[in-house]
Amino acid sequence: MRIVLFGPPGAGKGTQASLLTQKYKAAHISTGDALREAVANKTEVGLKAKSYMDKGELVPDEVVIAIAKDKLASVGDAGFILDGFPRTIAQAKALDVALADLNKPLEAVINLQVDDEELVRRLSGRRVCPGCKEPYHVESKPTQAEGVCDKCSTALIHRDDDQPDAIRNRLKVYNEQTSPVLGYYESKGILKNIAAVGGIDDIFNKVAEVLG
Ligand code: AMP
Repeated sequence: MRIVLFGPPGAGKGTQASLLTQKYKAAHISTGDALREAVANKTEVGLKAKSYMDKGELVPDEVVIAIAKDKLASVGDAGFILDGFPRTIAQAKALDVALADLNKPLEAVINLQVDDEELVRRLSGRRVCPGCKEPYHVESKPTQAEGVCDKCSTALIHRDDDQPDAIRNRLKVYNEQTSPVLGYYESKGILKNIAAVGGIDDIFNKVAEVLG
């Protein structure tokens, strides 16, 4: 499997990637997770990325392209699920070059479509495990014990960029800078649109059906 999970923040890319990883054993590559790890470890990349991330801005292309290439170089035969990358046309083009070098072209770009009102609801109620990265939602996917990850018992966090001002900015950035990437993949004939509404399992079934 060699796919991109595409969609606005809050569309459920991380949730679906986590389910796909279990089913297909492919590597889950999330540039957002890699950046948050760099921020937590106060690496040079992390220090550079933090101010962009806190405001809901995109981290510069060269930084995220380097991260994605590094992760892609180490994936095994089961392939990869890219989550949150690419987010600009420049990133999409760099990805094509990197995958051509590895002789592993993309098979599909799954676009999870959700309207803005629902995205705000999902993002403001989202909680994430900083340990195993499992995503939760206070209403639609609560934990068994309050505030603690079901999988690894780590205390959940409410991301800084899931606060109202940052959410509004992330949606604006998505509409202005990221959504044009859809046209890029549509012209290549590998874009698959999915109405990402309903329960997590219903959406997963739709994704699995499209992937065959
Ligand atoms: P995510 O967890 O995918 O929503 O990413 C969180 C934040 O990390 C984004 O709001 C951006 O600031 C940054 N980020 C993650 N992936 C990218 C990317 N491909 N290009 C630029 N910035 C990114």
